[in-house]
Amino acid sequence: MGLPQKIPAIVLGGGISGLTAARTLQEQQREFLLLERCPTLGGLTRTVEVGDFCFDYTGHFLHLSRYATPGDIPYANLNNDEWARISRRSCCFVGGKLISAPIQYNLAELPESLFHQCVESYNARPSLLNSVDATFRDYMVSGFGQVLSDLFLIPQNEKTMAISLDLLSKDAVRRFFPAPDEKLVRNGMAARAPLSANSYNSTFWYPKTGGIGRLVQGLRTGIRNCAVNQDITSVNLREKTICTSTSGMIRWDQMFSSIPLKSLCELTGDEGLQSAASSLSHSSTISFNIGLRGPLRPEFEDLHWLYIPDRAIPFYRVGFYSNIGKGTCASGNSAIYVEVGLPSEEVDRTDLLHDLQPKVVQSLEDLGWIDSRDVVCAVIHVMRHAYVHHTPRRDRALDVILSRLREYDVVPIGRYGLWDYTGMEDSMESARAAVLEVGQCNTV
Ligand SMILES: Cc1cc2nc3c(=O)[nH]c(=O)nc-3n(C[C@H](O)[C@H](O)[C@H](O)COP(=O)(O)OP(=O)(O)OC[C@H]3O[C@@H](n4cnc5c(N)ncnc54)[C@H](O)[C@@H]3O)c2cc1C
Repeated sequence: MGLPQKIPAIVLGGGISGLTAARTLQEQQREFLLLERCPTLGGLTRTVEVGDFCFDYTGHFLHLSRYATPGDIPYANLNNDEWARISRRSCCFVGGKLISAPIQYNLAELPESLFHQCVESYNARPSLLNSVDATFRDYMVSGFGQVLSDLFLIPQNEKTMAISLDLLSKDAVRRFFPAPDEKLVRNGMAARAPLSANSYNSTFWYPKTGGIGRLVQGLRTGIRNCAVNQDITSVNLREKTICTSTSGMIRWDQMFSSIPLKSLCELTGDEGLQSAASSLSHSSTISFNIGLRGPLRPEFEDLHWLYIPDRAIPFYRVGFYSNIGKGTCASGNSAIYVEVGLPSEEVDRTDLLHDLQPKVVQSLEDLGWIDSRDVVCAVIHVMRHAYVHHTPRRDRALDVILSRLREYDVVPIGRYGLWDYTGMEDSMESARAAVLEVGQCNTV
């Protein structure tokens, strides 16, 4: 397709945030063009099919707080009959046992000696949050005590985000972390029936057939003016132009960008932005999606996912697609995902296929969780940008970057555009709100 040389609104990135921005612009009858570097739309919420297996990029479950049902999500064209509402069943693998998650509200399930140590240390937990330099590690230790922090909270989060918790701000993951609520912790120590903890993911939605890519299909239905295979290679803020690897220069008046903020700053060639962006760091996640012949081990029969804090085990989480969506593999088989966190700079130095994958499979076998002879297929998905790091440097840099981009009519959207720790619903909503806000300013 020949691309226009000038366009009023340009949208960078064709994941759910870019698609939502494009749909909102389309609804407002504004002229736009969306550019995506990959051959397919959907970003991290794509689903791939391999024979009878259906793998998401990694486990992606729709948590809703603003909207009651998938059918209420603006522009997504979703039919509630095709979605199941699921109550989460997840565990933590600690002391060789499966402990219900969140572990901090289920301490009575720990082996006896660990339980007593956790209770004692909880009762003696220090108060470390008064200092302006308090870290995410201080938040854990103050909230739950040293023993539980060392046993689970610190290694689990360090494996996931591939960074020392000493470097993260005390409120690094905010609502995504079950809070240090004394009533819930004490209730879990007493092994009383769980109180309603109402965490962000205690229930979620998932398609009854296929994978989370259904959300992408819904958003892209009827959308006009999307161009794929368009890798943006430079952004000139003063001239308001961009170049892609396959097309010439395109002029724009307004930009909505869902590509990672750090990459956007680098593409501008602007020294101030590049310098501020050097304070932004993130982890990568490698997801090994594995199709297995036969059922899962009986202990995983009705589990959705498992957290694995043990540093000797290479992965931080194992999820069971086939316990979540019945359409993710043929009946009688099973489909799982296994996530490994890496510092972003290590991805290109790691031989994923010949080194990391065999280690992952071997470790699953050593644990007795799979028999490698049952592996039918494996797909590796690399998420170069997985968890953005909320550090004090990030918070300072973000203010500088966002206000400078605004001067040039560039509005970042989505989890990576805004360099934030958010889920799919927030990403879509940030895109819709940004387009509506700019539309209002233009009509005032
Ligand atoms: C391990 C993991 C698990 C997660 N689990 C959940 C979950 O269970 N539930 C939930 O709600 N959320 C989850 N999330 C978060 C969710 O993935 C994001 O909120 C959401 O996918 C963000 O969508 P997006 O469109 O903003 O970004 P993306 O999906 O990353 O889309 C950005 C797009 O920009 C394109 N792009 C990048 N650079 C360029 C360039 N130079 N030129 C052109 N195009 C470019 C990319 O190819 C991509 O298609 C998870 C995230 C991770 C990492």
